[in-house]
Amino acid sequence: MDQIKFLLDEDQIPTSWYNIVPDLPEPLPPVLHPGTKQPVGPDDLAPLFPMSIIGQEVSAEAQIDIPEEVQQFYRQWRPTPVHRALRLEKELDTPAHIYYKYEGTSPVGSHKLNTAVAQVYYNKEAGIKKIATETGAGQWGSALALAGAMMGVQIQVFMVKVSFQQKPYRRAIMETYGATVFASPSEETQAGKAILRENPESTGSLGIAISEAVEVAATRDDTNYSLGSVLNHVLLHQTVIGQEAMRQMEMAGEYPDIVIGCAGGGSNFSGLSFPFLGAKLRGEKQTRIVAVEPVSCPSMTKGKYAYDFGDVAGMTPLVKMHTLGHTFLPPSIHAGGLRYHGMAPLVSHLVNLGHIEPLAYSQRSVFDAGVQFAKAEGILPAPESNHAVRAAIDEAIRCKEAGKGEVILFNLSGHGHFDMQAYSDYLDGSMVDHQYNEQEVAMALSGLPSVG
Ligand SMILES: *Cc1c(COP(=O)(O)O)cnc(C)c1O
Repeated sequence: MDQIKFLLDEDQIPTSWYNIVPDLPEPLPPVLHPGTKQPVGPDDLAPLFPMSIIGQEVSAEAQIDIPEEVQQFYRQWRPTPVHRALRLEKELDTPAHIYYKYEGTSPVGSHKLNTAVAQVYYNKEAGIKKIATETGAGQWGSALALAGAMMGVQIQVFMVKVSFQQKPYRRAIMETYGATVFASPSEETQAGKAILRENPESTGSLGIAISEAVEVAATRDDTNYSLGSVLNHVLLHQTVIGQEAMRQMEMAGEYPDIVIGCAGGGSNFSGLSFPFLGAKLRGEKQTRIVAVEPVSCPSMTKGKYAYDFGDVAGMTPLVKMHTLGHTFLPPSIHAGGLRYHGMAPLVSHLVNLGHIEPLAYSQRSVFDAGVQFAKAEGILPAPESNHAVRAAIDEAIRCKEAGKGEVILFNLSGHGHFDMQAYSDYLDGSMVDHQYNEQEVAMALSGLPSVG
């Protein structure tokens, strides 16, 4: 009988994070100060992050030790399993082998806790009492809220208003863990008030919520800021996923020809793929690396690779990334975690160099795939993860048509148990496909900051 589950022991949890920076074929463009347009130094970031995290953000070391305490937290839910989707393979009648790494076994149901415990740990170590953050669908907020509860750090969450209204249970989770939750745009900050003055009906966006959280952190001494994706150190923390998966694929006696992840800010995608991509960049292995985004928020496939702000108000440093323009408001799709105007600078750089293949799918087609996957494999994926499922199924179908037995590995970044409204909408036919608005993107792109 074919083996379908590949489990590691607790003592096989990675003890260091993998940093892809030294393996990059060309250096990453520098992060610029929004005022001077000169490269930022550690002091510019100090109001927001502890020095240990700033050090990781700019590190050129290949391996960074995971603190003993963080490893201890990881033991609660790591290592996570790799499954072979044997029933799905049979149903698709494909010669391809489909594997998935399942991050939904964490107590908050997604990969986000991998970086949340690390970030709270470093902040607490630096004497920080409060952390402000934003959340889209609520996964990041619940992960940070739990990490805050584990270590006694207070968490303030600015939650994108449309999700605040559509996902009351996510808010209840964050509050259960002791966090304070505001619907964003809020009256709590100057940035929030300014947006509400202009548009009282604003349903918010990640970019707006980031402005609010950054403002709170920048203006209060005891409060830092924490981001759940995009930044180098967040991608770094997620590489426990790919390092474990490498050992698990070894157990399976296979090496992936294709590695797939969904990408909102790029963290779960990078977490799984960077260790494999590193091996490729070092010339050790050949693997296709595929990042999947929604057609309604297509930063990699339709955006521009340019310097832009990370937030709507223009308070963050300027980073070079694939962007739809920091003022672009993506439509309210169910995969709230993929509604961000930009993409991680590391992912953008590697897309630009041709080492990552970007791909976009519409909402209903990813739910077709998610429902097919749930019936075959039992696990009900998060709406975000359905994008990776769609791509994996399409690759398996391509393998069938070509009569080629390739090995596919994708990241099932989380379960969808708190996203059942999305599944009901899909099942009763009320889910609609949004195209991205070309005119709005053009307008947002015309507002890109000019740099040197
Ligand atoms: C937040 C989230 C994403 C998108 O964020 P990335 O940083 O791109 O990984 C994807 N899947 C799940 C389950 C999430 O919670």
